[in-house]
Amino acid sequence: MKILVVNAGSSSLKYQLIDMETEKVIAKGGCERIGIEGSLLKAKGNGKEKVFTQPMPNHKVAIELVLNALKDEEVGVIKSMEEIDAVGHRMVASGEYFNKTTLVTEEVIKTLEEKTFELAPLHNPPAVTGLRACMEVMPGTPMALVFDTSFHATMPEKAYLYGIDYEDYKNFGVRKYGFHGTSHKFVSAEAAKYLGKKPEELKIVTCHLGNGSSISAVDGGKCVDTSMGFTPLAGILMGTRSGDIDASAVEFLARKKGMTHAEVINYLNKKCGVAGISGVSSDFRDLIAGAKKGNARCKLALDMFAYQTKKYVGSYAAAMGGLNCIVFTAGIGENTPTVREAVCDGLQFLGVKLNKQANKAKNDGSIREISAKNSKVKVLVIPTNEELVIARETAELL
Ligand code: ADP
Repeated sequence: MKILVVNAGSSSLKYQLIDMETEKVIAKGGCERIGIEGSLLKAKGNGKEKVFTQPMPNHKVAIELVLNALKDEEVGVIKSMEEIDAVGHRMVASGEYFNKTTLVTEEVIKTLEEKTFELAPLHNPPAVTGLRACMEVMPGTPMALVFDTSFHATMPEKAYLYGIDYEDYKNFGVRKYGFHGTSHKFVSAEAAKYLGKKPEELKIVTCHLGNGSSISAVDGGKCVDTSMGFTPLAGILMGTRSGDIDASAVEFLARKKGMTHAEVINYLNKKCGVAGISGVSSDFRDLIAGAKKGNARCKLALDMFAYQTKKYVGSYAAAMGGLNCIVFTAGIGENTPTVREAVCDGLQFLGVKLNKQANKAKNDGSIREISAKNSKVKVLVIPTNEELVIARETAELL
């Protein structure tokens, strides 16, 4: 069985074709600048890479080009589109309307459009545009929606509610939903496998630290709390997102900066986080280089990031009443030993003991144990694989 995984953004469309017998990626790539001048498709397959520069006025043309690339004589890996058994689409927000991977029907799309677009205006509309384009080009091929939020559907009410009027939660769905669910699900399951335990036996904190970052408490294989909220703006400070901030500061900043509330939210999403604190970059490689040269604000941004992450680990250990394992994943979690060390430093009282040498070893794409042999809490670095989760869930649904 071959599953095509599609992740569509407003001007981009990333894809992977996965052979489910081996769970290997047989082709992957992405379209950039859809609807903008200079559109291009970078496609990999057969160990080769090819760049197609053709106009892509919309997502339909983009997906047609992707399918052609999958059949291309150089980078192609299939002979006909019939070889693709199903398509799994990444969808960011579900609201309370979907709590698991869902087969696409017109009714499902209608619910997405009417109920979820306002919850994730930057993510869901382009994903549905990509989905519709795919349905047009591949009529008859089953399509599944895999939500970033599904893994968090097991959170108890006390964890996902905000302290607002309960009726407003009921009427408007204002609550914590969480994101990066496919990643938290994947790495927590991999951790259990690696440790030779059943998921039910473990209390794990998963730290997905990338440009967008979130931390989850996974108790007995189920998510019981997570740091992102109603939108991905909440939790720790990130590349350009502020993370948690007193809601009153939004109104105050709007007045001081002469912005509308929507403009302040845009500012909190795009101009803040470690980029705002450092004034240098959202990229941790630049921050580490800056801190090494003595830039105090780069160091401050790194300190804040590790401090806030550590606080989540500690609070989730308290929420679960114990901690067996911490997992680091995503761009920063997988590649930045200094951040991992700073997060773990001070957690000795919980039984966390880092093996500093193992922590410094290069990322070789495998699961790495970076805690000391006698550490009560295992600390693991696990490369995430969100596409594989989407493919697995799609295959399961079929
Ligand atoms: P997203 O998928 O949310 O866009 P990623 O998971 O790719 O983000 O993470 C991007 C972050 O990971 C950047 O801050 C980048 O600096 C960091 N990163 C990626 N690779 C490395 C590396 N080799 N060393 C240090 N940081 C890295």
